[in-house]
Amino acid sequence: MRLTAFKKIANKSGCSYLNPYLRLVTGGKIIEKRKDSDRRIVVAIDNRTFIENGTFHIYPIAAFGRCCFIICPLCGEIHTHGNVNGYRVPHCYDFDLRKREYFIEEMQQVNTNR
Ligand SMILES: [Zn+2]
Repeated sequence: MRLTAFKKIANKSGCSYLNPYLRLVTGGKIIEKRKDSDRRIVVAIDNRTFIENGTFHIYPIAAFGRCCFIICPLCGEIHTHGNVNGYRVPHCYDFDLRKREYFIEEMQQVNTNR
């Protein structure tokens, strides 16, 4: 799912899980890359993602129930996973990208100071 879709769903549901994400954007932790023509978000980059021993380590951008949302370092879209840290197979559309597992870290407390 693209970020635009994620935001739409979050807004519609009225859930508060969009707020941590927006704080990460305003805090410069997440960079949204938009298309010039219609300002649609094409991909997003989570600056907190790091590589250790050749594996991407990712922090959730939001969590809801037993699910968490991450920005995929391989395709730049949002994927949902169970909200437990550990290795996962990416849910990218491109099946070749799914060969590379990543590690989801425990969700960080988002700093509310702006
Ligand atoms: Zn992906």
